[in-house]
Amino acid sequence: MAAASLLGGWAPALASEPERQIVPSPLPPLPPARHTLPAAEVLIDAGHGGIDSGTHWGDVLEKDINLAISRKLYLVLRGRGIQAVLNRTGDYALSDDNRWQRASRHNRDLSQRKGLSDMIEPELFVSVHVNWSKRGNNRGPIVIHQNEGRSALLGSFIQDGLNRQQNSRRLPMPSKKYFVLSRVKMPSVIVETGFLSDPRDREMLVSSRGQSRIAIAIADGILAYFCVSPA
Ligand SMILES: [Zn+2]
Repeated sequence: MAAASLLGGWAPALASEPERQIVPSPLPPLPPARHTLPAAEVLIDAGHGGIDSGTHWGDVLEKDINLAISRKLYLVLRGRGIQAVLNRTGDYALSDDNRWQRASRHNRDLSQRKGLSDMIEPELFVSVHVNWSKRGNNRGPIVIHQNEGRSALLGSFIQDGLNRQQNSRRLPMPSKKYFVLSRVKMPSVIVETGFLSDPRDREMLVSSRGQSRIAIAIADGILAYFCVSPA
């Protein structure tokens, strides 16, 4: 039937015609998408992936280190009763999941990370990365936080944990220049776990034991945050 016939005074009469009675009743509405996703307190963002390797040292790629540390962090948090979700469990670019946007691959990747945080709505967003410096003497962890109290608190707890683990005295830094920090709504931090350019840091970053110690230090910071932050 023509759409126009449903309009105006005709509609009540048409509603009682036999053809209307064989139309199957509509399916119940689907629940909102976010109910089908896991609830999470912490969304772990494993930086880079797929075609985007991040920084590198020879064939040692940042994306692989980020993923290894993120997986360990996931397991440590889960083991301590924190609901964690990892946004990448293998070596692929998050831009591959984002086919709806006509933007550059890099921007599709970033907005996919933000979009996932909008859907899951975790309490915290923790992005795991590895640093690089042209100057040879740069080493140690740096946590970058939003210009906001809860993010700064989370950043200082994670920085403390990593400083203790790596015998460092660095301070966390606020920044607006990172996409995820400026767009993600919940308290968020970028954890630069160490410098791939520094031989000592590199040894830690590529070893399973070093990665585990980093993951535990980050988890310590997250737990300290949950202890003092209002629910
Ligand atoms: Zn990175």
